[in-house]
Amino acid sequence: MAEYDVDLFVIGGGSGGVRAARIAAGYGARVMVAEEYRMGGTCVIRGCVPKKLFVIGSHVHQEIEDAAGFGWTIPPATFDWPTLIRNKDKEIARLEAAYTANVEKSGAQIVKSRAVFEGPHTLLLADGKKVTAKYVLIATGGRPNHGAEIPGIEHVISSDEAFHLAQLPKRVVVQGGGYIALEFAGIFAGYGSDVTLVYRGENILRGFDDDVRAHVRKEMEKRGITIITGCTIDRVEKHGKEFTTHLSGGSSLASDQVMFAIGRHPNVANLGLEKAGVAINPKNGGIATDEWSKTSVPHIYAIGDVTHRINLTPVAIREGHAFADTVFGKRPVEVDHANIPTAVFSQPEVGTVGLSEAEARAKYSHVDIYKADFRPIKATMSGRDTRVLMKLVVDGTSDRVLGCHIVGDAAAEIIQAVAIAVKMKATKADFDATMALHPTAAEELVTMRTPTARHVRQAAE
Ligand code: FAD
Ligand code: NDP
Repeated sequence: MAEYDVDLFVIGGGSGGVRAARIAAGYGARVMVAEEYRMGGTCVIRGCVPKKLFVIGSHVHQEIEDAAGFGWTIPPATFDWPTLIRNKDKEIARLEAAYTANVEKSGAQIVKSRAVFEGPHTLLLADGKKVTAKYVLIATGGRPNHGAEIPGIEHVISSDEAFHLAQLPKRVVVQGGGYIALEFAGIFAGYGSDVTLVYRGENILRGFDDDVRAHVRKEMEKRGITIITGCTIDRVEKHGKEFTTHLSGGSSLASDQVMFAIGRHPNVANLGLEKAGVAINPKNGGIATDEWSKTSVPHIYAIGDVTHRINLTPVAIREGHAFADTVFGKRPVEVDHANIPTAVFSQPEVGTVGLSEAEARAKYSHVDIYKADFRPIKATMSGRDTRVLMKLVVDGTSDRVLGCHIVGDAAAEIIQAVAIAVKMKATKADFDATMALHPTAAEELVTMRTPTARHVRQAAE
């Protein structure tokens, strides 16, 4: 009889857990995956995928407006939010079924249940059943941070609820200045809501390149989104169907919906981690791991958002795959977390890879900046008041491109390809040697000849 019921028990059927389960099963391991909600996890069910579908749909309004300059007369368009929700739900159900089928096809077994540690090798399921496992992978992801217990917090929704609203709110207040706040501000505004974004700091998208932050803010404001910085929401009151949001500065806003998008917490609570001896990383509240995703307990690993390293789907997937290769494929694979491209699907979109100007200047003694801020060709005919930003951050000593930052249409698509060059340590000379593709916005990346700024640190600095 086998010593354990399974070789691998995966807690969480999201991006990372599913990949790890499938690859480990492919190596012949006996795998069980527990999922307490829906297979596919945050990204598929209430993250990247439904969000991107919302974003795509919300662009249509602007496309219709822009069409006039190209000769189109389009009859007044009408929009039906319940149809959007219904069709999105159908697509998500299809994807959930595909995820389930792919896991089962790999030979792994799915249990639709919450799972918690009962001991280092023992998992307890919701029905009281116990399963023993040689290895355990914690891939429980994260959940929205609801913030401090301000009065009226029960009236506030997170992105989880935003995907299931019965009606499009006419006026929305969104708190936060990161990915989800900007993406949903653009979504609601695109469908016609009056949107106010409230952010506690000086400017949105802290951690991104400063030119990107300034450019996105200006463009969002041009599209009618009100951005209030330097304050927080202190209190929310409900009067019938309307909400009054009180800001720390003393003013208040009336709206039909209030949403917080103020970060996410790793899902570590009530998992029985203490029974297994798994340690938390005191710096970020996620599960502490080494570079192989191994926790403080040698047979227990953790990947994805629950480690709170870099909370992106491709990262969770890569970490899950590397874990399975390392432990079951006998092929040690370490995940390289450097130069991960990322996009904010705000309107306009942000695509970024590598170092910001500020990060590069802190690290390198000679930094050259190449920047283009221009009107895209479409705007010349549509008449839309909009500009694109392209920026390269270059190490002036080695000529290596350290960072690339784009704000504008298709920024996410462009940055995926630029990331290959940056990852390969391409130099500015390599960019210059590449023939431009005309007429595109991206051709600016290979035609910027003269630095717009040069920062050379003196030896004494
Ligand atoms: P998850 O996908 O969160 O999966 C964890 C799973 O574990 C969940 O299904 C949960 O139900 C289950 N679970 C938790 N505890 C237990 C338990 N005890 N027992 C059983 N099951 C349990 N990333 C991008 O790269 N691009 C994007 O455009 C993007 N957009 C996003 C938009 C939104 C609104 C949000 C919220 C996130 C977005 N992300 C995006 C982030 C991305 O969704 C996550 O990084 C990714 O899903 C992490 O994968 P994971 O496997 O670590 O966890
Ligand atoms: P982010 O970390 O991106 O942004 C959180 C925002 O909330 C920041 O502006 C932060 O301010 C602010 N904030 C944090 N705590 C408080 C508070 N107590 N009161 C007021 N404001 C607060 O988190 P999101 O929730 O937007 O998204 C979570 C993660 O999911 C992202 O970091 C990303 O990893 C992932 N994601 C990725 C997407 C993509 O790839 N396109 C899309 C959506 C999510 P400050 O900056 O001052 O700390």
